Amino acid sequence: MTSTRRVAACAGAVLAVSGVAHSLPGTVAWRSMRCRILPRLSGVGDPGHVALTFDDGPDPLSTPAVLDALDALGWRATFFCLGERVRRAPGLTRELVERGHEVAVHGDRHTSHLRRLAASSMADVARARDTIGDVAGVPPRWFRPPYGAVSSSALLAAKRSGLQLVLWTTWGRDWRPGATGESIAATVTRTFWPGATVLLHDSDVTSAPGSWRATLDALPLLAGRWAAGGLRVGPLREHGVVGASP
Ligand SMILES: [Zn+2]
Repeated sequence: MTSTRRVAACAGAVLAVSGVAHSLPGTVAWRSMRCRILPRLSGVGDPGHVALTFDDGPDPLSTPAVLDALDALGWRATFFCLGERVRRAPGLTRELVERGHEVAVHGDRHTSHLRRLAASSMADVARARDTIGDVAGVPPRWFRPPYGAVSSSALLAAKRSGLQLVLWTTWGRDWRPGATGESIAATVTRTFWPGATVLLHDSDVTSAPGSWRATLDALPLLAGRWAAGGLRVGPLREHGVVGASP
């Protein structure tokens, strides 16, 4: 099977189950099914470890506060960056790496790949990969499409750029208006999956204004709960994602 056909076949499998996802994106049933059927895509890893991930930055208004909060907890995380924001904040992007975090690709612009032509998706992801790699000085390994929208174009773009597409097992719904540290921690706890990859945001560019402050408030609450469960916290590169290439 050619690589293009393999991607198309994989996309068919993903889309067959994600047909449910896009009509009911938040349902427990869908997420559980995705984690079980597609653990690699979902970011399922070591059950004693939590992969902490932040999307939509870097953002000079909010990312520095997130970095300080992570330092205070002794945590390192994976930041899914947007190429266009990296070009606007190259120093902050380098700081992510200098402070021990992992940079990954969220695309160049924050637009869905669901109805994009393959050529458009490939150009977007390749540009973001090159920008992030050049600025950070470290080649990114992972790609998470905006809105978690998995399409054949997104899968092909990831493959052509040498990136592994990964979503999440668990989220805090920290983008919603009215989200609080407590509500985010409660949602993460309710949607927790063994070997969790947790989705949060270090910027409010696609979220309710100021929502990142609630995300900050959630971090120490999560630290207490995860410590009580004996869980370690770190970036995706330390997560042992099921089926991922080393
Ligand atoms: Zn996003």
